[in-house]
Amino acid sequence: WFLPVGILLGIGLVMLVLRVSQARLSPLADLQLAVKKKEFIVHYQPIIEMASGRCIGAEALLRWRRPDGSIVRPDFFIALAEESGLILPLTDLVVDTVVREMRDTLRQDRALHIAINVAAQDMKTGRILEVVSQALAGSDIRPEQLWMEATERGCMDIASASLTLARAREMGHSMALDDFGTGYSNLQYLQGLPMDALKIDKSFVSTIGTGAATSAVIDHIIAMAKSLKLYIVAEGVETLEQAAYLAERGVDFAQGWLFSRPLPVEEFVAFYCATLADYGSGPEIIRGPQ
Ligand code: C2E
Ligand code: MG
Ligand code: MG
Ligand code: MG
Repeated sequence: WFLPVGILLGIGLVMLVLRVSQARLSPLADLQLAVKKKEFIVHYQPIIEMASGRCIGAEALLRWRRPDGSIVRPDFFIALAEESGLILPLTDLVVDTVVREMRDTLRQDRALHIAINVAAQDMKTGRILEVVSQALAGSDIRPEQLWMEATERGCMDIASASLTLARAREMGHSMALDDFGTGYSNLQYLQGLPMDALKIDKSFVSTIGTGAATSAVIDHIIAMAKSLKLYIVAEGVETLEQAAYLAERGVDFAQGWLFSRPLPVEEFVAFYCATLADYGSGPEIIRGPQ
């Protein structure tokens, strides 16, 4: 009789081991634990004003730093964070980190701006406004120095997104539509969203000079943004040719590896101060039509 019992026990043991290892390997459990342990840092990618070549700020980009020191980029965990709701504590963490890390620099230099990425959920509910105003309270950083970016997908619920955008702009923040061109991108949709700037997605920037038919799309996007009197930021600028092309067509700002990769905070501040020394005091606050 002990043979079947032995087999059953054996199967039970294997299942138990499988469950334990599964729990350890489940990406969601992994991410949950990482959020709990705050294994996240922020890198800052310089944003360059085309006309002057000066750095006017940075985009804050989330990074997962695993206990072994390896860095995971957001493409590998943002979707899961959004599905699971973990994006909310992650957003809090980014905003707190940015305000804490940049406090001194932002206070000393009123021309410096930091852009944060706002998730769809936070655009829909407007929760981001409380998170940001709480973080800024008592910090003597002006709201004008904190920009926000939301993707087209993040503004899909146009009624609630418009409300969040309008309230954010009332508070003094500049709002940009991120990854522009990858979603709905029609004029009518754009007109419904109170925005200051458009960010051209890097997939379009990379077509410049390749002769690909899609490179005509970039001219179209620029024309559209201009007709709506929006500032234009190009992302993913990697070559001088791309930068020249965009500058010639009146693109206002650019970011990309040509200028700098996203940097840890000390390196970003050093980068920023170096361009300050070159250009003196910075331009006025960037603001689109109200
Ligand atoms: P994004 O907001 O469009 O950010 C631009 C992405 O392009 C960044 O990827 C940046 O590192 C990358 N990039 C910048 N310059 C170049 C270049 O010259 N060439 C190439 N090939 N890539 C360049 P990253 O940091 O991996 O972030 C990916 C996306 O994850 C972001 O796209 C954004 O949508 C999202 N994300 C990042 N941080 C946050 C965050 O704090 N909250 C939320 N909700 N989303 C975030
Ligand atoms: Mg962005
Ligand atoms: Mg973008
Ligand atoms: Mg993008």
